[in-house]
Amino acid sequence: MPSYLEWLLGVLKESVNLAGLPEEVYEYLSKPDRILTVKIPVRMDNGKLMIFEGYRVQHNNALGPYKGGIRFHPEVTLETDIALATGMTLKNSLAGIPYGGGKGAVRVDPKKLSMKELEQLSRGYARAIAPIIGPEKDIPAPDVNTNPQIMAWMVDEISKLKGYNVPGAFTAKPPELWGNPVRMYSTGFGAIVVAKEAAEKWLGGFEGKTISIHGFGNAGQWAAYWATKWGAKVVAISDTSGTVYDPEGIDVELAMKVKNETRKVINYPKGQKINDSMAPLFVEADILLPSAIENVITAENADKVKAKLIVEPANGPTTPEAEKKLYSRKDFVAAVPDILANAGGVVMSYLEWVEDLQYYFWDEEETREKLAKIMRNNFHRTADRWEKLKAQHPDKLVTMRDAAFVLAVERVYNAMKLRGWI
Ligand code: GLU
Repeated sequence: MPSYLEWLLGVLKESVNLAGLPEEVYEYLSKPDRILTVKIPVRMDNGKLMIFEGYRVQHNNALGPYKGGIRFHPEVTLETDIALATGMTLKNSLAGIPYGGGKGAVRVDPKKLSMKELEQLSRGYARAIAPIIGPEKDIPAPDVNTNPQIMAWMVDEISKLKGYNVPGAFTAKPPELWGNPVRMYSTGFGAIVVAKEAAEKWLGGFEGKTISIHGFGNAGQWAAYWATKWGAKVVAISDTSGTVYDPEGIDVELAMKVKNETRKVINYPKGQKINDSMAPLFVEADILLPSAIENVITAENADKVKAKLIVEPANGPTTPEAEKKLYSRKDFVAAVPDILANAGGVVMSYLEWVEDLQYYFWDEEETREKLAKIMRNNFHRTADRWEKLKAQHPDKLVTMRDAAFVLAVERVYNAMKLRGWI
């Protein structure tokens, strides 16, 4: 199976061709601008010194400061981080926000750390990347296994180093510390705004539709919450402890409470338990939301997927080989790609950064409406371009992902051309 980076670059290359851009645009974007590898020593509670390895990849800043999250994960590699940073350049470009792309990572299982150790690791990472970040340079945020508390420690660390508060150095901070309450749920919320538009366009409506969710972290939980609030029925959720399945509909608020109190979705007291965290990918549902990590829907298992519509809150969950199989199914409508579907997180980060630069804050409802409007417009812009590309290339399979990449790569190209980089 090709790695995430390999297939992402394949899609990028294809989109440069589809957009009719010079081949050198691909050459330029296939490598990041800068890679920083850092070591983070942490004195553990048992007195031992542990050395963790971390990265900050800055992919491209033609459109503005590098922007993207920080992932804490036991299996994360530099190669995955490069793929994620490349994805951020494209996501931010497609979203129409003034950012380039970057991503950070630390190879660690944060579930095995005490709060004190986690704080030391977070502060140590912030200190290590301090020379290359800042509100005008590179603005990190959370990603898998990182959260507002971690952002609070990091923004505090940078502020101490500078000698003054630097609110705009990180986004997705707690509302008490220059954050915005919408950021907590913005990725899941944005994915449901997009899922609703897609369902209204292609499935005859969103209300009453069944939804299956693989991964019940921040994105998955809030996607489930907003899906239910807007009248759809969540039938499956999962995490590493297993899957909960209930065709009658899961009580999402209860499931969130159970997950946050016990860390395990499987402790949800109702429904059917399946001892396989991948099960939501294959159950009967109208809409599937892969909300965990990359490469979960692959050529090997795509035939088992039953959903007509996929919307991707995770980064890179569906491989192109899997997509080929999905699109060959007569009843399959679309896989709404990550760089469109999960942009709610970074678009909200942008709004928070704008607030922090001005020290002027919108209220929750006003912010949410600004975010929803950007997500809706981007969905329709991408869907329209997809129609056009399909008409231009009737002989080949053009996916919605291709259309999103074409729009994204065009905007980065225009900025690079105007700046004389290419
Ligand atoms: N980690 C999120 C993403 O992959 C959000 C990044 C951000 O807010 O900068 O898009």
